This record gives sequence, C-alpha cells and structure tokens, in this order.
Amino acid sequence: MKTIAHWIDGAVREGTSARTGDVYDPATGQVQAQVAFASVEEVDAAVAVAKQAFPAWRATSLSRRSEIMFHLRELVDANRKEIATILSQEHGKVLSDALGEVARGLENLEFATGIPNLLKGDYSEQASTGVDVYSIRQPLGVVAGITPFNFPAMVPMWMFANALACGNTFVLKPSEKDPSASLFLAELLKQAGLPDGCFNVVQGDRVVVDRLLEHPDIEAISFVGSTPVATHIYETGTHNGKRVQALGGAKNHMLVLPDADLDMAADAAVGAAYGSAGERCMAVSVVVAVESIADELVGKIAERIPAIPVGPASDADAEMGPLITGEHRDKVAGYIAGAPDEGATVIVDGREQARDEGFFLNPTLIDHVRPGMRCYEDEIFGPVLGVVRVGSYEEGLQLIMDNPWGNGTALFTRDGGVARQFQFDVNVGMVGINVPIPVPVAYYSFGGWKASLFGDQHMYGPEGVQFYTRAKVVTSRWPDPRTSKVDLGFPQNR
Ligand code: NAD
Repeated sequence: MKTIAHWIDGAVREGTSARTGDVYDPATGQVQAQVAFASVEEVDAAVAVAKQAFPAWRATSLSRRSEIMFHLRELVDANRKEIATILSQEHGKVLSDALGEVARGLENLEFATGIPNLLKGDYSEQASTGVDVYSIRQPLGVVAGITPFNFPAMVPMWMFANALACGNTFVLKPSEKDPSASLFLAELLKQAGLPDGCFNVVQGDRVVVDRLLEHPDIEAISFVGSTPVATHIYETGTHNGKRVQALGGAKNHMLVLPDADLDMAADAAVGAAYGSAGERCMAVSVVVAVESIADELVGKIAERIPAIPVGPASDADAEMGPLITGEHRDKVAGYIAGAPDEGATVIVDGREQARDEGFFLNPTLIDHVRPGMRCYEDEIFGPVLGVVRVGSYEEGLQLIMDNPWGNGTALFTRDGGVARQFQFDVNVGMVGINVPIPVPVAYYSFGGWKASLFGDQHMYGPEGVQFYTRAKVVTSRWPDPRTSKVDLGFPQNR
C-alpha cells in the first residue's frame, strides 16, 4: 500500500518513526494509503533546515521572491485539474468543488506576487533637523502552519503564500486525513524556484503539533481547525512566546427577512448548507426564518433537496460527495437521530436512502430547532441544516449575537437600511448581504470573531502580511561636519 511521506529540504523523506495513519477513500470507505507520522526528531530536522535556509531567503530580493510567486501561480494554474483530483480522491469533494478550492487558493498566490508593493514602509524626511525616520517590515524566521482536512490545498496557500513572500521559511503540518495535496504543492514550489529548505512538510498528529508548539526555533504558528484544538494551539503557542493566529470552528446563521426574495434565499441556503457536504467553516448551518415566511421558506428548501445529486467525485453529475470518515458520518447522523427527542422536526432525513458504500449521508433539513438543543449548540460539520424560527428581525439578530461562534453570517433582505444596520451591529467577522458564503477576496483578510478566532490578526491578505512580519523603525542622521557639536541633552525633535 502507498505510504505518504514528508517533504524536507526540497525532497520527499520517507518516515522513520513507524507511526502511521490510515488515509481513506471516502467514496468507497476503503483505506487507500498510509501516511507517515513524524517523530519529534523528524520535526526537529524540518525546523533545522528551515532555520538554515532562512538567512539566504530573507536576503533574496523582493523582485526574485515575487518572480517565484508568479511562477508558482502559473504552475498551480496549469495543474488545477491534477490538484483537484488529488483533493477529490482523499477528501471526497466533487471535482467542481475541488476546482473551486484551487481557484480560491490561487487568489492568495496572486496577492503574494505583489509583495514588493505590500512591504513598502513609511518615510518621514526631516523628522528632526537632519534626521529622517522610516519604518520597515522584516520576516519573523521559521513559521509553521497547521491545517484542517476540509481545504487541504487552499488553507495551506492562505498561509504559505504570504509567509514565504515576506521572507520567512515554512513548516507545514497538514491534516493527516488528506495529506497528499501538501506534497504536490511542495513539488510545485520547488519547480517555481523556491530554494530547498524554505518549505517543508511534516505529516502527523498531535505529537508533531505539540513539538511545533514548543520548538524554540518556531517564531509563529498559523492554525485552522476546530475550536477546542484552536484554543490549545493559541494557549500553548503564546505560552511559549510565539505569535499565534488560530482560526476555530463555526455555526453560521443566515437570517431571512419577510421582504427577501424567498426563491433566491432558498437557493442560497441549499448551496451554502450542502456544498462540500457541509464540511466548510463558512457553510450555513442555521437558517433563521422570521415566522411569517418560515413555512414557505422551509417548503422551498425541502423541495430543492431531492434534486441534489449525491455521489462520488468519479460521477461527473454528482454535486455533493461523502463525509471525510465513517466515524464523522456516524457522529453527524447522531445529531439527526437525536433531534426529535429534543423537540425539533426532521423534515428531510439524510440517513434515508444514503449510499451504503463509502461515508455518504444525504442532505438533511431540521425545522423548529432552538437554542439549547444539541443540534443547535454543536458545530455539526455535515450536510445538516437547522431552521430556527424567530418573531422579528431583532430576535434573529439577538440569536446571532448570543451565539458563541462568529465566523460568518448572512442577511437576506431587500431593505438596504436594515442591511446596513445589520452589518453595523452584528458581532461576526464576515458578513454577507444576500451573499450566503462571504469568504473575503484575497486582498481582504479572512477571520471570524468570538470562538472562531484566537489571536489578533486575521488570515491572508493585508493582515497576513502583518502577521508574518514585524516592524522596525529606523531613526537616521548622516553627520554633517558643518553642524557637528557635542550635545549631552536628551535627543529631542527639533
Ligand atoms: P481539527 O481541529 O480536528 O484538526 C485541525 C488540525 O489540528 C489537523 O492538522 C489535526 O491533525 C490537528 N489536530 C487535531 N487534534 C489535535 C490535538 N488534539 N492537538 C493538536 N493538534 C490536533 O479540525 P478538522 O476536523 O481537520 O477540520 C474541521 C474543523 O476546522 C471545523 O471545526 C471547521 O469549522 C474548522 N475550520 C475552520 C476554518 C476557519 O477559517 N475558521 C476553516 C476551515 C475549517
């Protein structure tokens, strides 16, 4: 059986730890490969080569770094289909969805090609007589990325594009569930001209993560994953003196007002809830329906569900694939099973007629969901959409405000005034107005509020550049023999 290895110092490195994990084909449920889990020594080896590569890489001109990013962009563009196929094989997402992931990752490479412009500092001439002051931003050193299973190509690109362009060297710990895309990207980075040692991949589990969190030569950690792990990463990483951005889970609410176009809202809810089998951190998992239109909206969503083609990525007509593992599928199904006992109504039960082979679960719709129910309180991370009915816009807003997560939210309305007030009031990091999945373009930054992000800086875009650099301010005077004299006073701006 195939073994998926590490990438250290510009080459594939077979694992030596004898610890491995199963990589499934979610469409069949069969184990298709083993992934090597790195030992502490292997992590240390990756960090050591990244540290060794750093001085030369940070001294590489901005033009050259930008050129490498342009090459990488061309290579990823030329290999879209190949990358998407790798994603489908290990994650299970259908090809069109996988191609979308690659496209959104590419945006981050395009943004990073502009690094000479992004790293421009400020300059104040004659801040004091004969004294100029200017600011520069410099890379941190070796930085690490720890990524989730649901976007095995895009989320690493969110991180390493800016990190490398800023002059850092990088160690990636991908999800052990779908590790192959990281090696393919490593190969493309090499082909693009990135010097060996600047980008490394260590596969594995908590052992690897905990070593990265405590390693004295790691300056910063970027993490994307579930909230409990994000909390651990943030607390341990900052305790060890590292800069940390840790993006967590989500429960994204879509509030539909009575004046909304209900067909458009139903289309949006179905796409955002069931796309990628609901395994997106920006998936809509709760529709908040104002009571006067709730029956009609639930009816419109329910009537669209049977038309969703569920199947393996090898089926060109499929629009929704399986879940990532059997264990996860069973956990998601457990929420459906428990919902009626809590007083909710299962309108469409995705357990019925789900394919036997693989980790499939069909789209599910649960009405009369309320706070306090498990299916409301937990992040289900599957194709399960709950509907909470509210009496008014104000009640819907309050529900969203009271939710502990704050990744994304959406409002569907035709009323511009209400929409403007909503974006002013709501305590959520990414807001869609008649847009169900408001993932920011790469020249803005991505991040939630509350339990969806721990740290001060959002990911990618301008905040990504801030995260991967630190500021230095230089105060400079060039001696002019005509004005030179001894002065024991405290330097003042004159
Ligand atoms: P996860 O938290 O289980 O794993 C994420 C990473 O952490 C993986 O690399 C994994 O190997 C590692 N990990 C897992 N358990 C660990 C532990 N106990 N100690 C140290 N490391 C550990 O998340 P997942 O299941 O891979 O991904 C799904 C989750 O990610 C969902 O909660 C989803 O909302 C979230 N997510 C968030 C965003 C965002 O931008 N906020 C984006 C994508 C996914």
